[in-house]
Amino acid sequence: MGLNEQLAQPGSSYGDSFQIATVDSVINWGRSYSLWPYPFATACCGIEYMSTSCADYDIARFGAERPSFSPRQADMILVLGTITYKMAPVLREIYDQLAEPKFVISYGACASSGGMFHAYSVLQGIDRILPVDLYVPGCPPRPEALLDAVIKLQEKVKTQGLEARRQEVMDKIREMNERNKPLVVR
Ligand code: SF4
Repeated sequence: MGLNEQLAQPGSSYGDSFQIATVDSVINWGRSYSLWPYPFATACCGIEYMSTSCADYDIARFGAERPSFSPRQADMILVLGTITYKMAPVLREIYDQLAEPKFVISYGACASSGGMFHAYSVLQGIDRILPVDLYVPGCPPRPEALLDAVIKLQEKVKTQGLEARRQEVMDKIREMNERNKPLVVR
């Protein structure tokens, strides 16, 4: 393993005596184990999240057990349930208030695509208003699926630099704006 790879992995040892790492990799490792969620629960998927937070599933193993109901003290927003057009501006405002870098998990069919509610009042997927990082499929998804999403997000936080993160969000917002352009039929 080359020096760069060694430096990117906090905890790599040289013999028994010392370990080396870059400051970035240590900070990213720390961030990956303190992903405080803002649960935006609007429907039954919220109950699954509550179950995930209970002792059986022990989400504390991943440092994500502390829900924050202030967006300014949260690292990721969990969207759990149906989002109507009436709620959409509120969700977007809360996302805007989260401190950077921030992440979005879309949990369940309703949040990801509107689910069974193909109705005039329901947003057909939160990726129309938010740059989603991970989609969790299911109606409802199992608590294990949420833990799997948290683990995948941890990997992303550990390996993605802040500049790459900023670029990814900008690209997603650009795509979102393109998709939301009104359809003009001539
Ligand atoms: S995906 Fe299913 S379980 Fe989740 S909010 Fe929608 S209807 Fe409820």
